Amino acid sequence: MIIILKRNADPKKVDLLTGALKAKGLGIHYSEGLNTTIVGLVGDTTRVDEDQLRANDVVEDVRRISEPFKAANRKFHPKDTLVSVGDRQIGEGFFQVIAGPCSIESEEQMIQVAQAVKQSGATLLRGGAFKPRTSPYAFQGLETDGLKLLLQAKRATGLPVVTEIMSENHLDLFADVDVIQVGARNMQNFQLLKELGRCKKPILLKRGLANTIQEWLMSAEYILAGGNPNVILCERGIRTFETQTRNTLDISAIPVIKRLSHLPIIVDPSHATGTTWLVEPLAKAAIAAGADGLMIEVHNNPKEALCDGGQSLRPEEFDQVMGEVKRRVAFEGKRM
Ligand code: PEP
Ligand code: MN
Repeated sequence: MIIILKRNADPKKVDLLTGALKAKGLGIHYSEGLNTTIVGLVGDTTRVDEDQLRANDVVEDVRRISEPFKAANRKFHPKDTLVSVGDRQIGEGFFQVIAGPCSIESEEQMIQVAQAVKQSGATLLRGGAFKPRTSPYAFQGLETDGLKLLLQAKRATGLPVVTEIMSENHLDLFADVDVIQVGARNMQNFQLLKELGRCKKPILLKRGLANTIQEWLMSAEYILAGGNPNVILCERGIRTFETQTRNTLDISAIPVIKRLSHLPIIVDPSHATGTTWLVEPLAKAAIAAGADGLMIEVHNNPKEALCDGGQSLRPEEFDQVMGEVKRRVAFEGKRM
């Protein structure tokens, strides 16, 4: 980080400032030019508050050179993180496909979909019990009854399960859940992220609807810094001016994340597009761009689905997509 000092800054005030920064364990490097004096901060600046520095009388401007995230940063952790889920792994050459309905609706629906997606080669099962809905009048999920049905489907198929958490107060209910999903709308629910940092379960952290990659990595940082290293990122499309698709899949997020961070990243083409026919091409694009997995919504009867029917594949459509997925994952030299 560098601090640009104001012209004619009071030397006593500058000493006070640099003294305080030294007391934080930072090295100070002065560079005095004809018109400008620059103070370089050497060391871990993740805890330095830029805005606080800017508020100082002697400071003209502050520029961050290194990223504000440390635990998620590839610079400090060059090797890819491999997250284990049951006997499966994700990241570093291991590719997983999470599939299942948007929300858990009934025993029949959940078991039928679970068996079908397993048959097609999905390696993890999804289903929402606590649903974040835009309208308070829309179906909110079966909540604890839904979790029971999801765990029943887990026992019936042997597939590890992924489901969304909406509040840290529900954590006890998630004891038998294999991967806890943080939805796009909760990506910056910092209290929830802190609590998830205290548990050891894998966390699937979806990107917020309108969040930058840096903000997303800062949210991952909350979980990692709390002591939970098991974070999987999920790109699910962001808000743009485009209206042809539900969101815009930011395919470049995959190589960008791979460069900035060691965390695995998967792609959710269902929420990214909102349309079934776009799931396959975007799944293929995600694999080609280096994703470590996919999350796809599948429903046994999309026309009657209580949530996201328009983007949910029928089991036979999913089966066809999986054929392509398996071929391309093998082409990339990854294992499922
Ligand atoms: C979901 O996975 O069902 C979901 C609500 O996704 P998102 O948080 O990405 O909108
Ligand atoms: Mn959904």
